[in-house]
Amino acid sequence: MSTDQISSSAAETITVRNPATGAIVGSVAVQPTQEVVAVVNELRSHQPSWEALGPGARAVWLRRLRDWLLDNESHLVDVVCAETGKPRAEATFEIMVTCDVINYYADRARKFLADEKLSPHGLLTATKKLTKVYRPYPIVGVITPWNFPMLIPGVDAVPALLAGAAVLIKPSEETPLSSCELLRGWEQIGAPPVLACVTGPGATGGAVVNAVDMVQFTGSTKTGRAIAARAGERLIPCGVELGGKDPAIVLADADLQRAVNGIAWGGLLNSGQACISVERVYVEAPAYDRFVELLTEKVRSIRQGNDDGSYSADVGTLATPQQIEIVGRHVEDAVARGAKVAIGGTATGSGEFFEPTILLDVDHSMACMREETFGPTIPVMKVADVEEAIRLANDSPYGLSATVWTNDIERGEAIARRLEVGGVNINDAYANLFCFPLPHGGWKSSGLGSRLGGPQGIRKYCRQQAITTPRLPAMKNEVLWYPYSALRGRMVAALLRLLVARDIPRRLRRRGA
Ligand code: NAD
Repeated sequence: MSTDQISSSAAETITVRNPATGAIVGSVAVQPTQEVVAVVNELRSHQPSWEALGPGARAVWLRRLRDWLLDNESHLVDVVCAETGKPRAEATFEIMVTCDVINYYADRARKFLADEKLSPHGLLTATKKLTKVYRPYPIVGVITPWNFPMLIPGVDAVPALLAGAAVLIKPSEETPLSSCELLRGWEQIGAPPVLACVTGPGATGGAVVNAVDMVQFTGSTKTGRAIAARAGERLIPCGVELGGKDPAIVLADADLQRAVNGIAWGGLLNSGQACISVERVYVEAPAYDRFVELLTEKVRSIRQGNDDGSYSADVGTLATPQQIEIVGRHVEDAVARGAKVAIGGTATGSGEFFEPTILLDVDHSMACMREETFGPTIPVMKVADVEEAIRLANDSPYGLSATVWTNDIERGEAIARRLEVGGVNINDAYANLFCFPLPHGGWKSSGLGSRLGGPQGIRKYCRQQAITTPRLPAMKNEVLWYPYSALRGRMVAALLRLLVARDIPRRLRRRGA
């Protein structure tokens, strides 16, 4: 389907299936371009009064949404599980992180959005009071993937709403039901109609990009590039959070059991379908054999299946048949090029299950070490030393995040500073994502901009406005004003030379110091 236009005559629907069972769990409309435009126009009409409420009153609405999420937690977890096939514990985590983001930004929105009073930088502007004001982009489009269908729309929509924007969510066509629930919650608490959701395939996302004032996108690098190009044509800003191929570096001095626990969790959470999954592991030679032994033991103990609400599974399904195909292809390619499967290696069961898999004897000629797998595979490579590990870790078009495992924290930090990635966790996986004062964003082909990160996580949804006001009573004939006479022109030029070229403020400051 074209991403420019999607016609209303289609009147199609999308059927949503549970990938663990194949059961139909819901359906949504394919919304045509004109419906997207109508929704945006409606949001636009309500946004000014939402902005005028101010951050304190907006925070009240977001806290009500948090309470609604908590009151309805069990049902929401059911919905997330049903459309993703993930275990209940992992679905619960999506609701809790969304609530935690609400807590963090609702408590700080007033402070993060407060006007900033700034000092003039020199004598030339000393007569002015300077104020920087944060004003929201009126309509923010939040376009999201299928891997965390509640968390990602929540984490991006919450700060945008608190900033004073109206928000239009376009969830993945694979998992649209969680976003529809988020919207149902917003409506049920009686909040102003400044949050909406449109459903459909990529073409509906294209219509969103064409209608909003800012785009926050999470998804594949391919789609991110297309959206960034279109946003560039429209001269609207966009944040793009894209794919990754996150390396883990295990040093010989690491606590190997901790490294194994963290890497197994980091590689298999959400069946490995997370942008910051551990996707490749480099182990220093002296620790390699023991690491592989412990990791194999650990992965063998992990329970996979459809937990059906009973917390009986640690790892669920892949979300789509396409993911099964990609993961299978990466394993086959690795084996064909000489890799060994230590455990797992095949699709299993009646749903979209793929066994948790460890690949050994891998190298960078293999797709599993170069391309995003997005599945429950952990390829492990022996390296001579840390220098080789750093070189290989940086040998990737992606740069999302990395983990380093060592008992020497100072050395771990030094290694972190040499990695070409947006975030590094030492002796942990995923940790940076839950530290909201820190930014979460990718370098290289993993993205542009970042989400969260304290004040910038809410200010990114704002335009900055500069306001100057006079400090002194108004003078009718200020010397810098037009019209120039020859005399005034000479005076102005001399004054500017004196103030700027001779940098008087700096000289005065130096003399004072
Ligand atoms: P995708 O790019 O196929 O789709 C993402 C969303 O974009 C969907 O809603 C889709 O309908 C929409 N879309 C598709 N084409 C579009 C277009 N031309 N214009 C506008 N919208 C369009 O991604 P996916 O397969 O759903 O998600 C998996 C990817 O997401 C992986 O690469 C993963 O690494 C990435 N991801 C990144 C992060 C991060 O924070 N960096 C987080 C989660 C997932």
